[in-house]
Amino acid sequence: MKKKEFKAESKKLLDMMINSIYTNREIFLRELISNASDALDKLYYLSLTNTDLKVDHDNLEIRIELDKKERTIKIIDNGIGMTNLELENNLGTIAKSGSELFKETNDNQKNMEIIGQFGVGFYSSFMVAKEVSVLSRSINDDKAYLWKSTGADGYTIEPAVKDEVGSCITLYLKDNTENDNYDEYLDEYTISRIVKKYSDYIKYPIKMDMEKEQEDEKTKEKKKVIETTTLNSMVPIWKKKQKDVKEEEYNDFYTDKFYDYEHPLKVIKSEVEGLTSYQALLFIPGHAPYNYYTKEYEKGLMLYSRGVMIMDKCASLLPDYFSFVKGIVDSLDIELNISRETMQQDRQIKLIAKSIETKIKKELEDMLKNERSNYEKFYEAFGEQLKYGIYSSYGMNKELLQDLLLFYSSSEEAQVTLSEYVSRMGDDDTIYYASGESIDKIKLLPVVEDAIAKGKEVLFLTNYLDEFVIKTIGTYQDKKFMNVSDANFDLTSDEEKEAIKKVNEDFKDMFSAMKETLKDSVKDIRFTNRLKKHPVCLITDGEVSLEMEKVLNAMPNGDKIKANKIMEINENHPISKKLKELYENNDKDALEKYTKILYANARLIEGLSIDNPSEVSNLICEIMSK
Ligand code: ADP
Repeated sequence: MKKKEFKAESKKLLDMMINSIYTNREIFLRELISNASDALDKLYYLSLTNTDLKVDHDNLEIRIELDKKERTIKIIDNGIGMTNLELENNLGTIAKSGSELFKETNDNQKNMEIIGQFGVGFYSSFMVAKEVSVLSRSINDDKAYLWKSTGADGYTIEPAVKDEVGSCITLYLKDNTENDNYDEYLDEYTISRIVKKYSDYIKYPIKMDMEKEQEDEKTKEKKKVIETTTLNSMVPIWKKKQKDVKEEEYNDFYTDKFYDYEHPLKVIKSEVEGLTSYQALLFIPGHAPYNYYTKEYEKGLMLYSRGVMIMDKCASLLPDYFSFVKGIVDSLDIELNISRETMQQDRQIKLIAKSIETKIKKELEDMLKNERSNYEKFYEAFGEQLKYGIYSSYGMNKELLQDLLLFYSSSEEAQVTLSEYVSRMGDDDTIYYASGESIDKIKLLPVVEDAIAKGKEVLFLTNYLDEFVIKTIGTYQDKKFMNVSDANFDLTSDEEKEAIKKVNEDFKDMFSAMKETLKDSVKDIRFTNRLKKHPVCLITDGEVSLEMEKVLNAMPNGDKIKANKIMEINENHPISKKLKELYENNDKDALEKYTKILYANARLIEGLSIDNPSEVSNLICEIMSK
């Protein structure tokens, strides 16, 4: 019998695929099961349109047979089958349209993308088999044929005998080598696991004979029996109506499938029909996975099409800011052979991703409104990711995410949203905030005490990203934001402002001398009349606050960025009187020492370190001993 050659491009494609395309060999089974399921679908459909055909719908099934001696795996279906010509056309040319494109390029990367994009399913069997045969009888033919191939060197087709309509694919496993053990695919439990993993929800039963232990009811003796077992569950939980599924079932499904020990905070069920159709079952975890905030964490949703798992973690379905969401999307609109490379450009994937994003956002908003303590738990775990979403998009996502943010409020002594803050602010046009390491430390800042004393609600920003996020948001509902440590924040009356301006003018030269002492550590030194009991504080002028300076300077390779600091001295505090005296007595030496101590104080109050601790403590002791 004459061996037929695969078409030239097919040959190259086949070689490449066998050696490289799927790093994950076990998916060959998924591909063959998926083909079998399609063949069953086709027969099913045909029987609906052609009433002469007698097809027992309950009998449609897929069987897997393992033969350890012959080292073969058989995947058998009683689906539509293939004629001689169909065997030739379907299995003789790989990925017809793919190979067309393939001719045009010799770029390997490109080739891989093309391979991913087109049907190469059946050929993945050559990843584990040295020879593959397809014995098939079509519903439209009373003769059967046997297609056989050992891979790239071609295939043969010959007449054969088969009583039933359908196909039987036989894989003759490759010989084991030092690095590769193909015998694992002869193990019932391995096969059962692979079927469960990728094809659990195929709607036809996938049956296999399995050896099981059985206890004799009378003698209690254990003996081995062969039992035909259905490996797949057939009905996906996401296809069931929400009212038919117990909360417990969702929880179990989640912990099982996504390896979490804790139940999810929220289950989101979504069914969409229209421009794109899909079913999704999504979960919001109750805590961040241990590697969530590291590079190792991989976002993504499981992607199913027609009951077949296509991808474990389809990243394109989730925006980074919702990367914490786990779950499954099942859509008829997705090509089974879609690859990671082509995924990003796929129109259907884009549509589904957009729709899922909207859904997640809505669910989070609902949770914020109706289940506040759950939301706070969620926010504790994943709030940083939302903030990062605003910050890293330069504000492009702010409309989407800003209402999901929470900040601690001085007046409520609880976490509040920006919109809750705005609802309380009357005709003020500014949202006030202060930043620092912790709520307790922020409370103690002189400028914060001042703002609160004047009746302002102040948001306490304690996360390193917070202030950057606020700057990125810019304005919220037309209200601007202001750090209470900003030089422009001044709630004193016009008269008070006038008065302090005059004093500062009078002591201009004293401040110049003090600035000389502190070199370029501060941009300015002046008296203030807004502090209550604190002697001194540091405020900033310009975009960069003290907290931002801390964060930026802590970054590896970060530019050393400095905040423009202004030291303000409480004019009503005895220390001011002392400074004025020193200046008027022309006691330069003492003024210098006092200046250094005051500046160190101001930094300490702000939670900043000081460059010259031993000098400062010596100075303090010197003055104390006088
Ligand atoms: P794809 O499934 O993406 O089209 P494959 O290479 O897996 O690509 O299969 C090529 C074609 O061979 C299928 O489209 C189908 O027409 C036919 N085929 C494969 N397996 C079977 C089967 N078990 N029964 C009937 N037809 C099959």
